[in-house]
Amino acid sequence: DSGGFDGGGKERIRVSVRLRPLNEEELARNDPSDWECINDTTIIFRNTMSDRSTLPPTAYSFDRVFSCDCGTRQVYEEGAKEVALSVVSGINASIFAYGQTSSGKTYTMTGITGLAATDIYGYIERHKEREFVLKFSAMEIYNESVRDLLSTDNTPLRLLDDPDRTTIVEKLTEETIRNWEHVMELLSICEEQRQIGETSLNKTSSRSHQIIRLTIESSAREFLGRMSASTLAASVHFVDLAGSERASQAMSAGARLKEGCHINRSLLTLGTVIRKLSKGRTGHIPYRDSKLTRILQPSLGGNARTAIICTMSPARSHIEQSRNTLLFATCAK
Ligand code: ADP
Ligand code: MG
Repeated sequence: DSGGFDGGGKERIRVSVRLRPLNEEELARNDPSDWECINDTTIIFRNTMSDRSTLPPTAYSFDRVFSCDCGTRQVYEEGAKEVALSVVSGINASIFAYGQTSSGKTYTMTGITGLAATDIYGYIERHKEREFVLKFSAMEIYNESVRDLLSTDNTPLRLLDDPDRTTIVEKLTEETIRNWEHVMELLSICEEQRQIGETSLNKTSSRSHQIIRLTIESSAREFLGRMSASTLAASVHFVDLAGSERASQAMSAGARLKEGCHINRSLLTLGTVIRKLSKGRTGHIPYRDSKLTRILQPSLGGNARTAIICTMSPARSHIEQSRNTLLFATCAK
């Protein structure tokens, strides 16, 4: 093992798995768990389903594995913090929650986003030698249509190409952070928007991707007022992905699926992009094939840092989806 670094000296994608506790519903129907985190990096599946239980257990290893006893703070500290905080050094970053619906993506990502925002804001407060500007945006992608989560206007937003090859989300609200309370207020607005989406649109929220973007610009104080080479700007994206069952359904249906079916183009394209990046591919990476990957392109690959937290239910009834999630996690390593 190269210690997380590939031959080119760039760190690979940090991949963690979080097993949630059995929920009340699963406990009520005596849904057993066959998964066990045997140490900080390995989760095993013990086949207790039949007389095949004498077969050796299947082990899966990642950068970090969090058992159902681990709290979100620990998941953040050990699975995402370093990647999220690289933004204060001018490095773009992205943190994803990937997993089937009800596996704990939103639970995990909401917690991580709050903790990271707290740390980033704290860093700014402690580094008065630089002038920082922190900006906050939030959007949702549903059916390849982008919506502003900080606006009551539901008109889909267009993506525009910038001459420097980044993608701009036209008319996206960007709030300049005034103080700590302002960050928390914006996070709770996003949370409310998400909950409204979940109740009014019923199941659609499991098909949408939610993205919170923090952009940090900084310049050394002595250069203020002048164009300066010491100005840094970078963004970190916190992405609560659509339920991964959409991707596996589409993939199992294979090439016969046509446009207009419920293919989650953004989720499938993200999978392809991540697989290519994790293999250190330098050739064509299909960022432009979906809205999600276009928006996130500057925070994926290149010098950007990426962390993926794959969430899974321990319940036997979810075994197929849990295996698919671990397969995705393995491909992302
Ligand atoms: P998803 O976003 O993947 O659909 P949620 O984050 O909404 O899943 O989680 C489903 C339910 O399980 C929620 O009620 C949530 O509070 C609970 N839950 C998820 N992960 C955990 C965890 N690690 N510990 C305790 N409860 C959890
Ligand atoms: Mg969710």
